[in-house]
Amino acid sequence: MENKMIFLNHKMNLNAKEIKDYLNSFPYHNNVVICPSTIYIPYFLRKDSKIGIQNIAADNSGSFTGEVSAMQAKSLGVSYAIIGHSERRANYLETDDIVNQKVLKALENHINVVLCIGEEKRKAGFEKIIKNQIKKALINVSNFEHIYIAYEPVWAIGTGLTPTNEQIKKTVSLIKETVKKEFEFVNIKVLYGGSVNDNNIEALNQIDNLDGYLIGGASLDIEKVKKIIKVVL
Ligand code: PEP
Repeated sequence: MENKMIFLNHKMNLNAKEIKDYLNSFPYHNNVVICPSTIYIPYFLRKDSKIGIQNIAADNSGSFTGEVSAMQAKSLGVSYAIIGHSERRANYLETDDIVNQKVLKALENHINVVLCIGEEKRKAGFEKIIKNQIKKALINVSNFEHIYIAYEPVWAIGTGLTPTNEQIKKTVSLIKETVKKEFEFVNIKVLYGGSVNDNNIEALNQIDNLDGYLIGGASLDIEKVKKIIKVVL
């Protein structure tokens, strides 16, 4: 598949000096979206950069101390938002309904969405969880071409564990089929995320129905990022 995308999710990492070092050797690329801590976003603003925000508010403006809206992010030059990451679902109690509100708010502000879904444990019936997350997060959505669904099994995030290629491929097909059946949109773009690194990317990149990757831990190391880009793009 051509034109794969790589999303780099820094989460809440790197101090001011570290981000400047990182920035100095950052390999800007049309198919790489950097999602740094929100306060560092202005550092990455360049004509050729693609920037994502790790979370957005469900409202455009108002008395929401500490929040950043899609409207604000867009006005600064951000073009992607990660929504529904499992860490936000678990630590900030983001429900499918909140995730849906955020998805709609991002799209309303012309921000592309990276919608994270994934099972907590891979056990019988996990497909139902995946289908439900998709159905609920995408209620009232019409512009599916601006959405990436990131399949991120919670048990694979930051653990060094990954599903087998066959398991990922099957789940990606399930996601594409579900969006087709429920929303009549064919071939939604799907990413894989969960312990992707410079050592396993070559093997993962054999999966032929993926549209890219969402990378957490390994995205903090610029040398690993460069190796991953070399394999994927
Ligand atoms: C993530 O948090 O989205 C993620 C994929 O993290 P990691 O690559 O560290 O598993």
